[in-house]
Formats: sequence, structure tokens, C-alpha cells
Amino acid sequence: MTTIKLHNTRTRGKEVLNPINPDDVRLYLCGPTVYDRAHLGNARPVVVFDVLYRLLRHVYGANHVSYARNFTDVDDKINATALARKEAGAPGTLEELVQQRTEETISWYLADMAELGALEPDHMPRATAYIPQMIDMIEALIAKGHAYADGAGHVLFSVKSYKDYGALSGRSVDDMIAGARVEVADNKRDPMDFVLWKPSTDELPGWDSPWGRGRPGWHIECSAMSHELFGASFDIHGGGNDLMFPHHENEIAQSCCAHPEGDFARIWLHNEMLQVEGKKMSKSLGNFFTVRDLLDQGYPGEVIRLVFLQTHYRKPMDWTDKKAKEAEATLRKWRALTAGIEPAPTAAAAVLEALSDDLNTAGALAELHRLASAGAAADLLASAKLMGLLSDEMGAWAAGEDIDLSAYEKALFEAREIAMKTKDFAEVDRLKTAYLTAGVEVRMSKEGVQLVPGPDFDPEKLGAI
Ligand code: AMP
Ligand code: ZN
Repeated sequence: MTTIKLHNTRTRGKEVLNPINPDDVRLYLCGPTVYDRAHLGNARPVVVFDVLYRLLRHVYGANHVSYARNFTDVDDKINATALARKEAGAPGTLEELVQQRTEETISWYLADMAELGALEPDHMPRATAYIPQMIDMIEALIAKGHAYADGAGHVLFSVKSYKDYGALSGRSVDDMIAGARVEVADNKRDPMDFVLWKPSTDELPGWDSPWGRGRPGWHIECSAMSHELFGASFDIHGGGNDLMFPHHENEIAQSCCAHPEGDFARIWLHNEMLQVEGKKMSKSLGNFFTVRDLLDQGYPGEVIRLVFLQTHYRKPMDWTDKKAKEAEATLRKWRALTAGIEPAPTAAAAVLEALSDDLNTAGALAELHRLASAGAAADLLASAKLMGLLSDEMGAWAAGEDIDLSAYEKALFEAREIAMKTKDFAEVDRLKTAYLTAGVEVRMSKEGVQLVPGPDFDPEKLGAI
């Protein structure tokens, strides 16, 4: 069986993945807070962990991998969008508006990520469906002396009660306080303590609990959901490295204190950030564009995916137009080469080897280029499919089906109208030749002009006319 090595943040080195149960390899990824469209940075972990999911399915069998990615559907930012709608006169209660917002954001998210070729995880738990499990976990933490209620509706985790706090990121508690904005509040016994439960107003989403009507803190969600789905020990936990502290340190503290019988996650995998001019793309910095923005601008999802895969997941990366153009040209070439070809029974060994070496996607792509140069179309196709590329579903753009040629049709139609009067067909011939050179078939009738992109269609050439 293929040996998969992954870089474990916890041990700061590459490790062989030895699944707890090879018949059920379990992977958990922290998912989005659903208050708005996903930006391109949010898509990076989705694509990275989709490659890992595909690799695990290839190695252990599609029915022997469980992948969970949650939706955080209770949050101040969601409440704020609902409140803004209510103030703008939208009908419905605040709670209904919150639900509307989360539902629409989840459907956008799933549609956008599907365009990037990401398979849907086996489990997509919503935080609001696991409130009883969160309350149980918080009660267990209080009973064991790891958490305390402040008497005013809050429950806090006592960081000092967990001696290994900070082990994931390898920083001391003092460094962490210095490096992050730690909220000091009167109800905290220690500034590092964090919220497990907090009160909610009557209008906003809230649930009855032993501490009054309230809602969970963010960190407890992942601890409770992963435990419910995967138990006290599972194989891999992932997320962007911006979540390492405090979110993942807090998840570990909660899970290991509530369930000391387990290891929680054995391997921690963190992707680096997508950047804009050296800074993390983020909502708060305002330097973001959404996945939908790019798709609407005509960048095919497959092109976005290939650009992502060119950079190793542990390196920061930038999105550039130049990279997108190159990725597009590569995919057109590969699609032309593999058109009508049956994929080989399995991916090329060198591609599998690269992916198994801590998801070396850049190395795997180098191998795809080599296969393409050698004309090994069947191997290229099977290997690309393992990486979620060259699938039939993602190919419409390359066939030109989604390209709007109406402006070019109109130009030729009008040139012909003029030519009929002047009897000078030079411009008509020029356009026809240019379209044919760009790989477009020209169909002219009395009613109009129809342009049909062929297999050699090259939109760059069309654009230059
Ligand atoms: P959020 O909704 O902000 O909690 O983010 C959802 C996921 O996107 C988390 O796994 C983050 O680590 C990840 N993420 C956010 N911004 C970026 C970025 N610029 N590059 C890569 N991943 C990001
Ligand atoms: Zn999480």
C-alpha cells in the first residue's frame, strides 16, 4: 500500500500516516462562518484538503474515508447581516433573517466550491444542529474543573487547568498573549481564558442551557462536532494556519480535557495563506475578491484550481493574472491531448508518489507536464483526474460552450450587410479568416451568423482581432 507522509504541525516534521482504522480514515477540516460569499483565500484550504481527500480515497478506498467540514452558522457577523436587513425593512423576525442568511450563504459556498472541483465532504455538520452535544461537553469540562460559569450567563475555559496548552503552535502562553489580541474581561479569572458559552438576547438565536438562554463560543463547535462524528481520537485535523492559535489550541484544550481517554487529532495539517501584495487576503483587511467574482469574470473553476495546485500548501501564494493565463493554456493543451481518450486504469506512479509526499502538488504537476510532452495521454488523464483536473464536468469552458461569441457574430453579420451594398467583401473575408484561425467554425445563412468553437479554439487569438 502507498505510504502517505504528512507534515504534522504538532511534531513539526513529516510523519507517516498510520490510520487508527484503515477502514475508516477520518479527516476534519474547519469550515466557514456562513455570513457572506467565500473569498479566494477561503477556497485554498478547500482545494488543498480536497486533494488530500482524493488521495486518501485512492489509497484506502472511497468507502473507507470520512471527511467532515463544518458550517459555523451561529456568529455575531451573521447576526449583524440579519440586523442590517431588518433595519432596511426586510420582513420576518431577526431569527428568520439569520436563518435566511445562513441558508443562502451555504448554498453559494457549495456551488462555488463545486466549480473548483471540490468533492462534497461526507459530513457537513452545522453548528446549530449540535447544541446539546456542546452543552454536554461544557458540563463535563465544568465537572472536571477545566471550566467555570461566571453567574451571568458565560462559561469560560480555564487555560491554566490544561498544562499542555500551546503545544500545537509551540509557543509559550506569554508569547501567545503578546502575539494576539487577548480580550481582557472582568469575568475572566485569567486573561487567556476563553468563552465556551455566552448569553444571547431574546431576538437573536439562542438555546436554553444550565446557564440560561445563550449560544456557544466558536471553538467548542468543532470539538463537539468532531467528537460526535469521529469519536475521541481521529486521524487528521486541518485548517488554515491562521486558525492555529487560538482556535486550534482551544479545540485541543477542550477536547483533550473533556475526553482524556483519546488523542483528539493525531496529525495537524495547516495550509499557508493566500496573499495580496504580501498580506493575508481577508475580509477585515478588505483586500479580497470572492470566488464568484473570478468565475463571473470568466476564469474557469478548473483554472483557479490549477493555479492553487502549483504552489505547495505550506507556502504562501499570490493569485496573479499571469498564472491564470498560463494555467488556462496548459489545461487547453491537456484537454486537446486527452480528448476522446480513455484514462489509464490508475494514476502514474510518480504522480501518486509526489502527492503522497506531503501533498507535493507542484511535483505532481511537473509529472503531468512530462506525461503530456511524452504524449502519454491515457496516463495524463488518469493522473490529472486524481488531482481533480480534466474531469468531464469541469470541461465546458474548454469546449467553448460557456463563451459568449455574440459580439463576434454581430461584427461579421454587420460587415456582410455593408459588403452586400458596397460589393467589397475584404472585411468579411478578413473576419472569417481570423475566426477560423482562432479555431471557430463560421456558419453563415440569410438569417444570421453562427460561430461554433472547435477543438482548437483559442480565445486569445479571438481577443486580438
Ligand atoms: P473563516 O470563515 O475566516 O473562518 O475562514 C474559513 C477558512 O478559510 C479557514 O480554514 C481559514 O484558515 C481559511 N482562510 C481564511 N483566509 C485565508 C487566506 N487568505 N488564505 C488561505 N486560507 C484562508
Ligand atoms: Zn475548528
